[in-house]
Amino acid sequence: MAQTTPNHKLTVSGWAAHDSSGVVTPYTFKRRVNGADDVSIKILYCGICHTDIHHVKNDWGITMYPVVPGHEITGVVTEVGSNVKGFKIGERVGVGCLAASCLNCDSCKGSEENYCDKVQFTYNGIFWDGSITYGGYSEMLVADHRYVVHVPESLPMDAAAPLLCAGITVYSPMIDNNLHETPGKKIGIVGLGGLGHVAIKFGKAFGHHVTVISTSPSKEKEARERLGADDFIVSTDPQQMQSKMRTLDFILDTVAATHSIGPILELLKVKGTLVLVGAPDKPLDLPSFPLIFGKRVVKGSIIGGMKETQEMMDFCGKHNITCEIETVTPDRINEGLTRLANNDVKYRFVIDMAGKNSCL
Ligand SMILES: [Zn+2]
Ligand SMILES: [Zn+2]
Repeated sequence: MAQTTPNHKLTVSGWAAHDSSGVVTPYTFKRRVNGADDVSIKILYCGICHTDIHHVKNDWGITMYPVVPGHEITGVVTEVGSNVKGFKIGERVGVGCLAASCLNCDSCKGSEENYCDKVQFTYNGIFWDGSITYGGYSEMLVADHRYVVHVPESLPMDAAAPLLCAGITVYSPMIDNNLHETPGKKIGIVGLGGLGHVAIKFGKAFGHHVTVISTSPSKEKEARERLGADDFIVSTDPQQMQSKMRTLDFILDTVAATHSIGPILELLKVKGTLVLVGAPDKPLDLPSFPLIFGKRVVKGSIIGGMKETQEMMDFCGKHNITCEIETVTPDRINEGLTRLANNDVKYRFVIDMAGKNSCL
């Protein structure tokens, strides 16, 4: 479907996938001109998220091609609408997953816009004017100011970009479970990828003992030495799993592949909580015994609201928390997508949209 909205007069260069091959190629499209509530942003960096892979390949059957992915965006404000108070031209800003929500429901009023049932995402969504949203694999973005955050001066713009999705996805459930106010707990992080590695950093910054739970023994050294984890459990080793039963207060499960959570639940103390933030395609096996014998809780969580996203950025600025990244030029996006699908990245690709080799 082509953009037909009259005020979509800006011609923008970007990168789009056109079919389920998932191959991304240069693409020119239209964005709306900056409206009264909008902020225009020159995009500097955009992270490559697992969700991007699902969308370019239409894994979930919801992709509206051509799709311009990207929802881990950092850049500089170039234009500000007349109703916008909080942003000025030249400021460093970020945009994550959200493009629009109803603004009236309880979730929106509580700045949990991510749980609004009318929520629309930064790409492959439908904006208020009926247009399809295009994401951050592009030279610039026009965003409603409600969904834009400030990036603290202390944070590098490239390594800060993945905080807008990966970061808030793990930060929000930690806040929701009071981990920012109860230091000294024992927490577990399942999976050491784009989400898991930054979850370790938040866990340490909140003052907890952090255990990584992974299928890959080879990741132990790096988890401990580079990322600051205190302990490491190889989940495929029954002896290790047995020896750590009932030791953890909280577990964040970041794994997107289908996996068994029964044995992981056994690691929780009585009344412990496991929060799922990974999104396996198939239903998870949820055995009743570890739940009822340990009075344990399993919850889910998706990204975070805008107020919380700003709080997270400020927290990261104060504690010097960024993502571990590998930067790629836009002509290497396909390589990035393929390597991410193969878990061959430490720990996030970030596209240098404005760099010399950007081809835009
Ligand atoms: Zn994402
Ligand atoms: Zn709402």
